[in-house]
Amino acid sequence: MPPSRYGIKEENKSIWVYLEQDEGVFENVALEMLSKGREMADLLEWKVVGLLLGNGVKTLAPEAIARGADEVWVADHTLLENFIIEGHGSVVYDAVMDGKPSVFLLGATPNGRDLAGRLAVRFRTGLNADCTNLHMEPKGDLLISEVSGFGGGVVAMIEMHDHRPQMATVRPGVFELRAADSKRKGEIREILVDLKPEQIKTRVLERVKSGVVDLTRVPALVIGGRGVNGDFETLRKLAGLIGGDIGATRPPVDEGYIERERQIGQTGAVCHPRVAICCGLSGAFHLLVGIDKADVVVSINSDPEAPIFEFSDYYIVGDVNQVLPALIQAVEGRREVQHA
Ligand SMILES: Cc1cc2nc3c(=O)[nH]c(=O)nc-3n(C[C@H](O)[C@H](O)[C@H](O)COP(=O)(O)OP(=O)(O)OC[C@H]3O[C@@H](n4cnc5c(N)ncnc54)[C@H](O)[C@@H]3O)c2cc1C
Repeated sequence: MPPSRYGIKEENKSIWVYLEQDEGVFENVALEMLSKGREMADLLEWKVVGLLLGNGVKTLAPEAIARGADEVWVADHTLLENFIIEGHGSVVYDAVMDGKPSVFLLGATPNGRDLAGRLAVRFRTGLNADCTNLHMEPKGDLLISEVSGFGGGVVAMIEMHDHRPQMATVRPGVFELRAADSKRKGEIREILVDLKPEQIKTRVLERVKSGVVDLTRVPALVIGGRGVNGDFETLRKLAGLIGGDIGATRPPVDEGYIERERQIGQTGAVCHPRVAICCGLSGAFHLLVGIDKADVVVSINSDPEAPIFEFSDYYIVGDVNQVLPALIQAVEGRREVQHA
């Protein structure tokens, strides 16, 4: 591999985080990376720098500081209103070449992945994609990125010795969010954006939202597996009653019963609900990765030997078609008593 655009001798001892936002709201993964970045930087006495792009987004910078950034570099420009790779790619490239961070983290979101892949090629550095954990090796100032492979059967630890920045995309939901501290002090730096309209070849004609909420932070999840036989309406009713949302294992997603964005697990969302109610699913490793951080797991399965029971705090052996309506009735009954 050819040498990177800048090397170890020129790097600044800092961890940069790409602060992805959509319509003025940070993606959770951006704040999660700030939390993890802060933890790693504190060990080495390094700086955490947030890189924020958009139109009218400067007001978001104080929140990034409260969440752990020492500096926020802001590129605020009308041509950065929508994520378009030509514009965002060019501004991020120039900013990183200016700041020369040792580490540069982006979320493993569709936009983060798009940006990271293109930039890694331009920087002539490597990219550790879809990481599930990160830590710093203080001796060599090395970022160690954990990436799961072979369907979760192995976890690879990847280091980058000679190329800079050490780039990684981070899977949403894998890091805890640190509480915001509004008293934290930090510096906000404005980036002079030199973009011309003719550089942006793509035009956004319409924005269509999928309507699926971010499942990584919902307080209650009702998850349906193959055993619910495509009936997600009953699950939706229970989820509504307990202030949560629905998710699914891979088979109902593959069979087209439910949107792919609702898949939980290794190749889906990694969630942190207070309660996860697992209905008609066996409890494969690939699914468990997605609910490993749930406070309480409840499961319903007709097979008394179902592996999910081993992972559950409470379980019911029975047919979901009978247990779920009874559960819904019980929750509704409790609510009526509370409201009486
Ligand atoms: C690389 C890779 C990545 C993967 N990523 C994911 C992922 O992100 N998420 C994911 O979910 N899977 C993933 N998978 C697939 C995973 O390995 C399992 O195949 C899948 O999770 C099984 O889904 P399930 O539990 O719904 O189905 P099954 O394993 O078929 O289990 C169905 C369960 O329903 C029960 N059941 C049937 N009827 C009823 C009823 N009427 N009432 C009550 N219980 C009933 C059965 O007893 C059974 O336990 C991945 C696989 C690979 C190879």
